[in-house]
Amino acid sequence: MKNRLATKVAAAVFLLAGIATAAGGALAGSFSLWLIASVAAVAGGAAYVATTHLVVRRLGLARETLREIRRHRFDNLSAANLERGDELNDLIRQVYRTGQVLESEFEELNSLENYRREFVGNVSHELKTPIFAIRGFAETLMNGALEDGDVSRSFVEKIVRNADRLANLAKDLSEISKLETGEQRISAEPFDLRRLAADVVESLESIAAAKTITLTRNVPADIAPVMGDAPRIRQVLVNLVDNAIKYTNDGGHITVTAAPDESGGVNVFVEDDGIGIAPDDLPRVTERFFRVDKSRSRTAGGTGLGLSIVKHILAAHNEVLRVESRLGQGSRFGFHLPTATTAEVNAA
Ligand code: ADP
Repeated sequence: MKNRLATKVAAAVFLLAGIATAAGGALAGSFSLWLIASVAAVAGGAAYVATTHLVVRRLGLARETLREIRRHRFDNLSAANLERGDELNDLIRQVYRTGQVLESEFEELNSLENYRREFVGNVSHELKTPIFAIRGFAETLMNGALEDGDVSRSFVEKIVRNADRLANLAKDLSEISKLETGEQRISAEPFDLRRLAADVVESLESIAAAKTITLTRNVPADIAPVMGDAPRIRQVLVNLVDNAIKYTNDGGHITVTAAPDESGGVNVFVEDDGIGIAPDDLPRVTERFFRVDKSRSRTAGGTGLGLSIVKHILAAHNEVLRVESRLGQGSRFGFHLPTATTAEVNAA
């Protein structure tokens, strides 16, 4: 029964024809003209009711559906609960569904646009500070400070430091945009966490030593291989240890620990006895460009993107960053990694 609507209309016409025939039969028994007129009136009324019920009422529903969709109002739309019936019902359902798809695409575009606007605003703000600083130092040099050997050296050093900040920002921005758009893919393989931790500690030891900070690692020799994207997990550890150094005062202590957990995975922690984070700021530290102390972060070369990058890398591994901190006492950043199975180790 392809043309169900036609079937319904045809049934209505047949019904009317039946009524008319019955009226004609009655007429043969020499009924008067007024009876013919009333039969015609009843038939006309029935035709009107049938057309209204089958077509007009539902066209009204289609019109109302379109109007509500245009106003982005999807709640209480009766088209949402319309039964499959005939072509008209199917058409109204299609209109509703198309509206729904358009609405969700519209919402997605809106949130992307908000993200883009906020991102561009943040980036231009972040760029301004080092650019203005570089310009300021260069102008002072041009206006005479060049002649003074000591002053010019210190100004050139400041220019270099600000140029480094710009370079860090460019690197972190490209990293975060790749992670946020999903361009940066994670490929999990078994790897040796003990070796990776040793490598990270070694690469940052001299920076810690410059602040007389003791940087130690505590990873059992028999720790099982873990699953993850080793270069990305290295980046996570580098960011966490680098932060621990930045936000720990001279003479402090930092430990990188890895320990098996009860579920068969491994917990990794970077713990410091540094400045700590206040409870109000704690939930915000992984937000893009959030810094508790802007000037301390900038002086230390921070971009405000490090923990955001860490969060994204861990999310791509289906893991989360755990943060515990007490103001003035220190912080502990941690995450979990699954242990590689024998099959995964053999396959690698
Ligand atoms: P930044 O480049 O500013 O270090 P991050 O995203 O890495 O940016 O960190 C965000 C903020 O979280 C930092 O500015 C700092 O205020 C705080 N933070 C991060 N790690 C630590 C830590 N180990 N101790 C204290 N505060 C920290």
